[in-house]
Amino acid sequence: MSDLSMLINGLHVTAEQGATFERRNPLDGSVATRAPAASAADAVMAADAAAAAFKTWSQTGPGERRALLLKAADALEAKTPQFIEAVGAETGGTGMWAGFNVHLAAGMLREAASLTTQISGEVIPSDVPGSLAMGVRQPAGVVLGIAPWNAPIILGVRAIATPLACGNTVIFKGSENCPRTHQLIAEAFADAGFPPGVVNYITNAPADAGAVVEAIVAHPAVRRVNFTGSTRVGKIIAMTCAKYLKPVVLELGGKAPMVILDDAVIEDAVNGAAFGCFANSGQICMSTERIIVDQTIADAFTQKFAAKAAALPVGDPRKPDPVVLGSVIGMNTVEHCNALIDDALAKGAKLLCGGKATNTLMAATVLDHVTPAMRVYHEETFGPVKAVVRVRGVEEAVACANDNEYGLSAAVFGSDMARAFNVARRIDSGICHVNGPTVHDEAQMPFGGVKGSGMGRFGGKAGVAEFTELRWITLQTTPRHYPF
Ligand code: NAD
Repeated sequence: MSDLSMLINGLHVTAEQGATFERRNPLDGSVATRAPAASAADAVMAADAAAAAFKTWSQTGPGERRALLLKAADALEAKTPQFIEAVGAETGGTGMWAGFNVHLAAGMLREAASLTTQISGEVIPSDVPGSLAMGVRQPAGVVLGIAPWNAPIILGVRAIATPLACGNTVIFKGSENCPRTHQLIAEAFADAGFPPGVVNYITNAPADAGAVVEAIVAHPAVRRVNFTGSTRVGKIIAMTCAKYLKPVVLELGGKAPMVILDDAVIEDAVNGAAFGCFANSGQICMSTERIIVDQTIADAFTQKFAAKAAALPVGDPRKPDPVVLGSVIGMNTVEHCNALIDDALAKGAKLLCGGKATNTLMAATVLDHVTPAMRVYHEETFGPVKAVVRVRGVEEAVACANDNEYGLSAAVFGSDMARAFNVARRIDSGICHVNGPTVHDEAQMPFGGVKGSGMGRFGGKAGVAEFTELRWITLQTTPRHYPF
């Protein structure tokens, strides 16, 4: 069991009056972590520290920020064993998943380091004689980053890396489900030598989330917010940000469709579907949730896909034998998925493999002949329960892919590349891969969704646009003519 502290102004601190909360292992209920339960006053202290540090951090040159971000990448990688242990204890995720998280998150820090010299402006032709007019990007101020537990290292780092590269200071609010995992990220920044107050880390008890978040959003120095999590909470955060007129990037839920056209290579589609559906037990925002397959190849596909899914090993990730599916995050996921399975089977779906679970070790589950009448057709499972929908031809496939409130990631499989590409162009999502899985992230890519999946983009120059202020600044180089 780990006892944590928060990081405010470079100091390891407890919460006001020493308040704490516990995170228990989802599989055996043992206490994994005891973490500080910040109050709204603690949150304001973190915002004050970030506001004070902004004065000097925003004036640093790109070389200094780049060097520190590169050191943070190395410091993060050096903590790989601690991350693997913390992810297994707090969320039930596998060692493979934790290791992949560290690898991609370190890449995000290195990409953020390279962005420091890419924060460019422009000179804009002015109609005023002698006026040199510029669009100048400046650090925005203090940034609040809120990340979830499911890809904890990737999403925690993503919440703060580009904001820091742009010269902002940050408050990182850890997830109640993985306060230790997220604290290791804050430690990596401290190890790298970031000055006090540039990276602040706070944790809160679940019941206090609303008050803590509002206290930070309301702080005048806080100029940007980013939130990765569910659409339900994203809407609450959006309303809080609207109240204080703070711009917010929202990376929310998904129900990614994978369209398999009649000319797809079955083997490729099976491998892409298995990875997209079952990596981290389906608990990824980009997880393949709906497999939309042309009826002419549906039998051939489902036979091979179900065989592959049924063979994926499930087990306690803390044991030595490597598994693909570890524990899901909690019994609420099990109950939600069981209810979706019951509903689908009662309405005529066919269970191809897996089924209802009695604990958090959930097997890969595939439901065939899913129709719009079933909840699993529409609702995010966020677990290893997957829907196969059979369609006739391209038009039906596109209509089915778009028949959903979400729009984060998507995939299209087909041998006629031009046809598959044109299907991809018609899918209403922020991200779409042709002949690649729905689960795919790279630091330099514009990542984000449409519709219920949120707004704004992380990654590369799109991220720079989100976390800088674009100002119009002119320099009058000759006497200016005035009408009076
Ligand atoms: P969640 O919405 O429950 O998020 C929890 C976070 O919201 C915590 O930090 C909590 O403190 C905060 N919160 C809760 N109530 C609040 C309130 N009233 N006011 C302010 N903050 C509040 O999400 P989760 O279950 O941790 O994560 C899973 C969800 O995240 C899934 O829907 C998944 O699709 C989504 N997700 C999206 C992306 C993406 O990039 N689009 C990535 C990963 C996960």
